[in-house]
Amino acid sequence: MSRFFTSRYRHLTPYQPGEQPCFNSFLKLNTNESPFPPTPQVQEAAREAAGKLHLYSDPECTALRQALATTYRLSPRQLLCGNGSDELLYLAFLAFCGETCPAVFPDITYGFYSVFAEMTRVPFRTVPLLPDFSVDLFHEDLDQGTIFLANPNAPTGLWIPPEQLRAFLERHSRQLVVVDEAYIDFAGESALGLLEQHANLLVIQTFSKSRSLAGGRLGFCAAHPDIIADLNTLRNSLNPYNVNRMTMAAGIASLSDPVSFSRNCQRICQIREACRHALEKLGFTVTASKANFLFASHPAVSGKKLYQQLKAQGILVRHFDQPRISSYIRITIGTQPQMDRLLDALETILLTRKESL
Ligand SMILES: *Cc1c(COP(=O)(O)O)cnc(C)c1O
Repeated sequence: MSRFFTSRYRHLTPYQPGEQPCFNSFLKLNTNESPFPPTPQVQEAAREAAGKLHLYSDPECTALRQALATTYRLSPRQLLCGNGSDELLYLAFLAFCGETCPAVFPDITYGFYSVFAEMTRVPFRTVPLLPDFSVDLFHEDLDQGTIFLANPNAPTGLWIPPEQLRAFLERHSRQLVVVDEAYIDFAGESALGLLEQHANLLVIQTFSKSRSLAGGRLGFCAAHPDIIADLNTLRNSLNPYNVNRMTMAAGIASLSDPVSFSRNCQRICQIREACRHALEKLGFTVTASKANFLFASHPAVSGKKLYQQLKAQGILVRHFDQPRISSYIRITIGTQPQMDRLLDALETILLTRKESL
């Protein structure tokens, strides 16, 4: 820390992203990226846009928002694009939380929520997940402030079905409810369909997971036009050209190919279910994850050990040093051959352990 760093941020602990090794051949199952590269058409669209990089990108993302509006049956006025959904989450903390309106979210959820609360210097409260890791939707601490729910939740993968979410939105109609749907395409029906009836709902999605564009940094959010206008006020005060030309073109090309998109989502879900079954056969406890990752623990080996020993075998998974989930690892769903390699490695780890007993 330099002596110039403002005292405001001396105690800020930044978000810890999963390891992103640049120069080695780890099998990366640690940051929930898609194992499938973007289609040739998406790559070509980005290349073509690169020819115009001397010009600023469209600050309104007009064509992309139109494509999103068509895909999701919304009005462009209900939509805003971001440099990853993380940027939109940050803007939501800035816009809709404050001294008298704390941020509220589960104690076990996406790590960025507490970082953004600290970064934007708004008070926050956490609501403990129930023992089965589900969100306690009737907890009294949810009765005040702006609520952030990852659905499906990370890193548990559990999701709140639309009916429960609808009832929740009705019970909390005077509060803004932000639903972070980073993994919804692997789960089921999106809350986007609830926007018409619920003016207190802000839905955030990303192209990073299900649309194979993590490196492109593209997210979008949907809400009542007044909510979008507030977010735009802040975005235009920070970075009006927040989505670059290549990413914008890639996003539009991705939306124009729903067949590849849904095939990839289906493949991931199939591999996820097969892998869940195989893990259970190895003695793992696995949550009912609806996302593109599994959350698993083993009675004989700690989460940290599993993480370390997999890493020694060239496989990266995610482990969280948090009390209630320290026995778990989070495994991103890759291709079937990648999951076979993971399962082989886990089997070896468990066998070696037995022999050494
Ligand atoms: C991955 C993830 C995001 C962020 O995605 P971006 O790459 O910034 O679009 C947001 N929320 C959750 C729960 C995530 O897992």
